[in-house]
Amino acid sequence: MSGKWEGSTRRHELPDDWPQRRAYVLARDEHRCRWHEHSTVCGQAATDVDHIRPGNDHRYENLQALCSEHHAIKSSREGNEAPRVTRWRPVERHPGLL
Ligand SMILES: [Zn+2]
Repeated sequence: MSGKWEGSTRRHELPDDWPQRRAYVLARDEHRCRWHEHSTVCGQAATDVDHIRPGNDHRYENLQALCSEHHAIKSSREGNEAPRVTRWRPVERHPGLL
């Protein structure tokens, strides 16, 4: 991951064929939430398609079906981690700018 500017806009850039990808992933995952924690799979009706690793990787292997509840949980966890990443700022002094 590069030090991209994230956090100010929570919207990911989605490809033009996102509706098709979304439908494909929901069908592949049988419209069931793939959230698993403590070796238990959620299995509720999935309404959302999530990026397993946040970012702009829209390949099918990085997409999974989630129920709206778990999608919200995952998004909020990612949101909580974002400030730690963006806090890092290189300090560079350009003598010419002063
Ligand atoms: Zn779920």
